[in-house]
Amino acid sequence: MKKIAILGCTGSIGRQTLDIVRSNQDKYKITGLSCGSRASDLAAVAHEFSCKKLGIAADDKYAELKGLAPDAELFCGDDALTAVMDDADTVVIAVVGMIGLKAVLYALKMGKTVALANKESLVAGGSIVTERLKHGGTIYPVDSEHSAVWQCLQGEKHFKRIVLTASGGPFYFTDTDLHDVTPEQAVKHPNWNMGKKISVDSATMMNKGLEIIEARWLFNTTSIDYVIHPESVVHSFVEFNDGSIKAQASFPDMRLPIQYALCYPEHAERNYTPLKLPLSLNFLPPDETKFPAPKLAKQAIASGGNSCAVLNAANEAAVSLFLERKIPFTDIVRIVEDALNSEPHCDLTSADDVFETHNRVQKKIYCKYRGQ
Ligand code: MG
Repeated sequence: MKKIAILGCTGSIGRQTLDIVRSNQDKYKITGLSCGSRASDLAAVAHEFSCKKLGIAADDKYAELKGLAPDAELFCGDDALTAVMDDADTVVIAVVGMIGLKAVLYALKMGKTVALANKESLVAGGSIVTERLKHGGTIYPVDSEHSAVWQCLQGEKHFKRIVLTASGGPFYFTDTDLHDVTPEQAVKHPNWNMGKKISVDSATMMNKGLEIIEARWLFNTTSIDYVIHPESVVHSFVEFNDGSIKAQASFPDMRLPIQYALCYPEHAERNYTPLKLPLSLNFLPPDETKFPAPKLAKQAIASGGNSCAVLNAANEAAVSLFLERKIPFTDIVRIVEDALNSEPHCDLTSADDVFETHNRVQKKIYCKYRGQ
């Protein structure tokens, strides 16, 4: 029986991972669970799966969790991300934000298999994570695009190019004046049901930019393009040296890539919604004038050093400001571009460097727009 810890178990990916475990109780045992602050949700999940090792990142929720799960071993703060994974073989890292980097580095140090759904760890700390991977541990991607590339690469030695697919988000095919987009409009995605931060990233198409950076580290290539594919049925392509192209397709459901990361290399049995064939699919060229975010990500990859960490930090701060209604939608990507142009370029040699860059960039942006 595979022992699994889920970090971020009350979020969208966390809950879908629990769905898979729920329908495969003979295969998986949950040995650790953590979340940010939803103590009662965490306690309910722990009770359902008889999990006795729990972590809550918010210190002020510790007492509430203690009252709800008196028999469990409890951790809070940074320990909520690390100590809960000690008994697991596979750790699903589904927390949002830079805290994911700490968890990934710890899991790899402990030789764990990481099913990675946290974007920031690879986007901001890709070089540090890649260095750590040389000493142990494994990363399996959970994101639908990266899982698709990973599936296409099974049995292959070399490839020429990766082409990620992008739905375009809620505004690609509308005449909406992007300046007037509200947080409510931005968090409504046509095909995927996701958290707020990733939904806004999807609307600006920064999500594709972040995924291009992740792909650079996961598959060790800079030969990465993307196409607009509004149906979200083909999850990505890989082109090979003889001109052959492989694609992975399915009904859009995150539980497929999550399950594949848990069952790898098996495509295990699952209750799924079949694709109804025949179906017509569209693949369109990106509009980088209207949505320049992926272009910025490619520029950050080419600059190297701290550029991707700067991009990630500035984007996260700008998305928060947008959700707080302090800046218009179109300022998100403009703030990222300004940060990339103004931050001094340097190399990142440790995780501390990554966090230092992240905090410095965000402090500057918050100072300017929140006046703190
Ligand atoms: Mg994705």
